[in-house]
Amino acid sequence: MNKKAIITGIAGQDGAFLAKLLIDKGYKVIGADRRRVDSNYERLNDLGIAQQIEFVYFDLIEDSIIFDIIRKEQPDEFYNLAAQSFVKASFDLPILTANVDAMGVLRILEAIRIFSPKTKLYQASTSEMFGKVQQIPQTEETPFYPRSPYGVAKLFGHWIVKNYRESYGMYACSGILFNHESEYRGREFVTQKIVEKAVDIKKGDNTPLVLGNIDAKRDWGYAKDFVEAMFLMLQQKDADDYVIATNSTTSVRDFVTLVFNKLKININWKGKGLNEKGVDSNGKVLVEISEEFYRPAEVDLLIGDYKKAKEKLGWAPETKLEELTEIMINHALKRKSLK
Ligand code: NDP
Ligand code: GDP
Repeated sequence: MNKKAIITGIAGQDGAFLAKLLIDKGYKVIGADRRRVDSNYERLNDLGIAQQIEFVYFDLIEDSIIFDIIRKEQPDEFYNLAAQSFVKASFDLPILTANVDAMGVLRILEAIRIFSPKTKLYQASTSEMFGKVQQIPQTEETPFYPRSPYGVAKLFGHWIVKNYRESYGMYACSGILFNHESEYRGREFVTQKIVEKAVDIKKGDNTPLVLGNIDAKRDWGYAKDFVEAMFLMLQQKDADDYVIATNSTTSVRDFVTLVFNKLKININWKGKGLNEKGVDSNGKVLVEISEEFYRPAEVDLLIGDYKKAKEKLGWAPETKLEELTEIMINHALKRKSLK
């Protein structure tokens, strides 16, 4: 019998890569997706798997649908990847973010506890829970200090998973994933925003890329590598939580330089703070800074130590940042040439 997995957030970046991984392993994949006007599965179509997925309507704020699906499907594995996933938006939508990213996890746990206790759960936790970091690098033992409604909501999800595991013996894991990017990353996130605009500039766009805090540093990995860790977490004897990261960190500014250099555009940085600019060899302004993209509270530095995942899951990241940048640039070039 093929194993059955439900993936929430299947239309997003990680959902697409995880669905591909599980389908290739022979799983029956049920895609739990919220209703929108036009369900166009861009990522799933690009990976050539949309036809192999059975879609069900699902929303993390709708208790009844969560209970119904879990009772009916009794899946072997349930991957909860759905979320209001954009940190900046969580300052504008704090209540919605808490309802989806915190309470949504509890709804799933209750449904599994009552109707399908054998289902193994993966919860998408995040390095944003470390926020104002208390240790460098961050491990599973590092105290949390979230800095956004998103980080706080995800921390509730993280602790309630641990609590249900300890209280009811449920097989429920949280992956504390550091930032992971790809050709399928949403366009609001800084890496994709930079790649898209740099490609436009390369093709003749004369308007600059406008960013916020480019001093922020992130531990950026490749999403395709990271979904393998999700799968591995559910194949162990015992459920546990793991940091998934690359153990290296890069500033937004250095990522911008890397992307422009890959496109054979020189960029030099001049000025400070809001007056800082990235200019090319002819003095043309390529990058400007605007307060619009700053956050009320920032996460300055993230760098994760994945030692536990390496020892217990045999997992390690394969793709270096340079390679990831090339994958993203090539895909953006292809996308734009098809338009
Ligand atoms: P995406 O934003 O690409 O995908 C999230 C998906 O969740 C989208 O398809 C979205 O639907 C869906 N969704 C949003 N709200 C609801 C809701 N109320 N009910 C049901 N579905 C909903 O995120 P990623 O794939 O990048 O990330 C996957 C998970 O991992 C998320 O939980 C994220 O918070 C977490 N995470 C991500 C990291 C990263 O760097 N990518 C780092 C650490 C954790 P729609 O398409 O309609 O918007
Ligand atoms: P996050 O780490 O989940 O918040 O992922 P993002 O890709 O949204 O942001 C990564 C970092 O880039 C954060 O520290 C942001 O403040 C910083 N940043 C600087 N300029 C921008 C911008 O224009 N857009 C976004 N999304 N982030 C920016």
